[in-house]
Amino acid sequence: MVRVRFAPSPTGYLHIGSARTALFNWLYARHYKGSLLLRIEDTDKTRSEKKYLDEIIDDLKWLGIDWDEEPIHQSARFDVYRRMAEDLVKKGKAYREGEAYIFKLEKGRTIEVDDMIHGKVSFNTDDIKDQVMIKSDGSPAYNFCCVVDDAYLKVTHIIRGDDHLSNTPKQILFYEALGITPPRFGHMPLIMGADGAKLSKRHGGVSVEEYKKEGFLPEALVNYLLLLGWSPGGDKEMIGVDEAVKLFDINNMKGVQAKFDLVKLTWMNGEYIAAKKDEELLPLIRKQMEDEGKKTDTPDEILLKVIGLYKVRMKTLSEFVRMTDYFFTEDYSVEEKAAGKYLAGAESKNILREFSGRLKEIKDFSHSSIEEACRSLAEEKKLKAGQVIHPTRVAISGKSTGAGLFEMMEVLGRSKVLERMQKAAA
Ligand code: GLU
Repeated sequence: MVRVRFAPSPTGYLHIGSARTALFNWLYARHYKGSLLLRIEDTDKTRSEKKYLDEIIDDLKWLGIDWDEEPIHQSARFDVYRRMAEDLVKKGKAYREGEAYIFKLEKGRTIEVDDMIHGKVSFNTDDIKDQVMIKSDGSPAYNFCCVVDDAYLKVTHIIRGDDHLSNTPKQILFYEALGITPPRFGHMPLIMGADGAKLSKRHGGVSVEEYKKEGFLPEALVNYLLLLGWSPGGDKEMIGVDEAVKLFDINNMKGVQAKFDLVKLTWMNGEYIAAKKDEELLPLIRKQMEDEGKKTDTPDEILLKVIGLYKVRMKTLSEFVRMTDYFFTEDYSVEEKAAGKYLAGAESKNILREFSGRLKEIKDFSHSSIEEACRSLAEEKKLKAGQVIHPTRVAISGKSTGAGLFEMMEVLGRSKVLERMQKAAA
């Protein structure tokens, strides 16, 4: 029976790399119908905070990662670690140094790790110092309590980032000293930024929280994270999580590049948004608007229309909020450059005046009637359609791009359209 674990330290928000670790452990557990356990590594009592733990739990749930047993907290197990350390001292495998407990390292040995992702990796114990198990402040050291707990939880496979590969021989020696067969290990390549350096703040968002805030969908983030360590085969990139659970094979984790490409993630998010029904996006858009402090009393019926217009244009939910502000407030953002180009001249003002005059007259304010009015005006005045369309778009939305002009005019409604056009023409 496969038992894997995710072991976050609640000393900060959930990093994209940790989310990927959690996801692959989850995938491994679900593929083999095993269990995923959650262990909170809160040994550093001053740096661990409840707000981080709550956030990590929230983010995991948001990503759709669930676990199978009550999480264990290392902060509640200090006496267990001490007892185990005492034992090793009694057996002559460790010694005390003041309050600290230290493991004696046997020199001249080769420790071989048969890593599930890297294959065989060897370490020489000459390169490893005696290992602190319990620090003089009474808190356990990571490598020791990690082994004690993985053994206690009967973990069969440990999947984590490459940054822990060098810890593995130390952990194997602890298993040996405790008389326990070690689990299998698999170390995933660390996530790199586009420039090949380890992913950090300067590459953009590094916490799940930031992506959530920007209006990335969990399905898209999960799909993208899957590709940062695994390939479902061929050129396949869009893959839902259920299919991934079925297809997952740790052998396909070998040699996969883990380069974080924000452009690709953003593209993928746009694909997931476009594939959703307007009704499914509605509550997500409302929440996004609320979170960004925007007015949200627009009736469903109108908001659905705006969503319909922008669904294929927005790459994130936050982009929707920025692109459609002119539907919901008079205080919408205006592109200065576009306003200068299309609204400043006397000719544009004349065209806006003419066009708004005609829009006042048309019977129904539908996109087709608006379009007809635009075409006939252009024809009569010997103008190119663009000479009417561009100033009008900037006048009513403040933007040089957006959804189809006539459709957005219809949704915006006659009175707002006329008011804005007249104001721009004045
Ligand atoms: N708390 C450790 C980390 O977040 C866990 C390492 C492990 O999985 O063994 O890096």
